[in-house]
Amino acid sequence: MNEKVLKLLNEQVNAEFYSAYLYLEFSNYYASVGLDGFENWYRVQAQEERDHAMLFYQYLLNNEVKVTFEAIAKPECTLESHMDPLVAGLKHEKHVTALINNIYAAAYEDHDFRTMQLLDWFVKEQGEEEKNASDMITKMELFGTDAKGLYMLNSELKARVYSAPSLVL
Ligand code: MG
Repeated sequence: MNEKVLKLLNEQVNAEFYSAYLYLEFSNYYASVGLDGFENWYRVQAQEERDHAMLFYQYLLNNEVKVTFEAIAKPECTLESHMDPLVAGLKHEKHVTALINNIYAAAYEDHDFRTMQLLDWFVKEQGEEEKNASDMITKMELFGTDAKGLYMLNSELKARVYSAPSLVL
């Protein structure tokens, strides 16, 4: 595997664990303000991000690359309102999309079709992540300022259950 592609994939393992940590911080915030549905939604989101990290990890192992684990940074966010995590979430997902695209570009340049095939799943996934993050903001804008609306929204998000990723390596 090309050195640059390998390095970027290794960094993505860390980036996905960071995403899990960030979303756990969002969950932690919502727990502190009593919104257990939002708490649940981001807890499930954190589990999905851990799965993403493990997919990159497994992909590297399958290609006989020894992964280097680096320190996972402290979640970088200031959460002071119900809306703050949602805005930070969309910004973060756009950042992750850029990271995935960057790896894709390196793999494309190297004609690394195997890595491109792996990344195809993540490109699609990022489209869904950005849409989810954007929808959360829209819903909060529409319903979050009203107590009954917030209650309903919280109840809706409480129903989210974890499911394993559709991609199997
Ligand atoms: Mg992810």
